[in-house]
Amino acid sequence: AKLSQGRTSFRFYDDEINKRYRRRIRLEAELHRAVERNELVLCYQPKIDLKKGKIIGMEALIRWQHPQLGMIPPDDFIPLAEQTGFIEEISRWVVYTACQQISYWQSAGYGTLNVAVNLSPIEFQNPLLGSKIIEMVQDAGIARCALEFEITETAVVKSIDSATVILHQLSEAGFGLSVDDFGTGYSSLSYLKGFPLSKVKIDRSFITGFVESSSDAAIVSAIIAMSHSLGLKVVAEGVETLEQLRFLQDLQCDEMQGYLISKPVSAGEVTALLSRETDIRNLITDYHNQPS
Ligand code: C2E
Ligand code: MG
Ligand code: MG
Ligand code: MG
Repeated sequence: AKLSQGRTSFRFYDDEINKRYRRRIRLEAELHRAVERNELVLCYQPKIDLKKGKIIGMEALIRWQHPQLGMIPPDDFIPLAEQTGFIEEISRWVVYTACQQISYWQSAGYGTLNVAVNLSPIEFQNPLLGSKIIEMVQDAGIARCALEFEITETAVVKSIDSATVILHQLSEAGFGLSVDDFGTGYSSLSYLKGFPLSKVKIDRSFITGFVESSSDAAIVSAIIAMSHSLGLKVVAEGVETLEQLRFLQDLQCDEMQGYLISKPVSAGEVTALLSRETDIRNLITDYHNQPS
């Protein structure tokens, strides 16, 4: 009996792998049509300034609205796009769409909202990336300071020569540059200070952990202090609770993103959030006004 049970669970495991494999093959085959079929969607997650209690911008996060398989998260298709080289076309679409959204907000009277776009490490292997982006944004006619790029430390370290060229080009053109998922790679702030970066985004795993783990709290506190002494602003990713928010305020963290304020939502929904800003301001500033 034991043996057959073993076989059944083995077969189940096998089927699971098969299913995942078939899904992967299907996504890979259909991805290149996603752009022309208009199936890609750009969501926006607000970034909050912790001093002003204001939405100062958003991070653009891609999804694939597949006609049969439903909403597919980026972690399921960005790696495939990276392997097939299709990532460059996806990135062009993301930059184009983000620029359109920025000019919409500008013309609708919301002022210049900053949008951060994620760039893949693979794209950093191409030294022409910087000039391509500059050209695209020029065509869109928006202020360059309205667009920011998020890059992981690994992207910089792995393609050091082309990354140096690209980062200097983008920074001289006026774009903001953030280090994404900071703390998960192998590089250090003292190494990164050789690059023209403006912001550090502390990885969500440290924010999630700090309530239980005093070592995570120490890491968060050290990253904030060190970034500030290097003239870098700090953004905390993945803030889900009020307790985490208060801790970050105590440490003088500059900005936050997370489900506590909003999940990534459609452009329409994030625009609606912009008009309900007082709720956010109250949540952030209540703290400063409380008698201690
Ligand atoms: P990332 O750039 O580090 O983005 C942060 C991820 O954390 C997003 O997942 C976001 O939805 C999620 N998140 C934000 N706040 C919270 C929170 O409070 N709690 C939790 N549990 N999660 C939170 P998402 O949208 O699934 O994106 C995953 C990754 O996919 C991104 O990580 C980024 O590396 C990549 N990605 C997304 N859009 C693009 C894109 O347009 N181009 C490229 N190259 N990569 C992208
Ligand atoms: Mg990011
Ligand atoms: Mg991140
Ligand atoms: Mg990430």
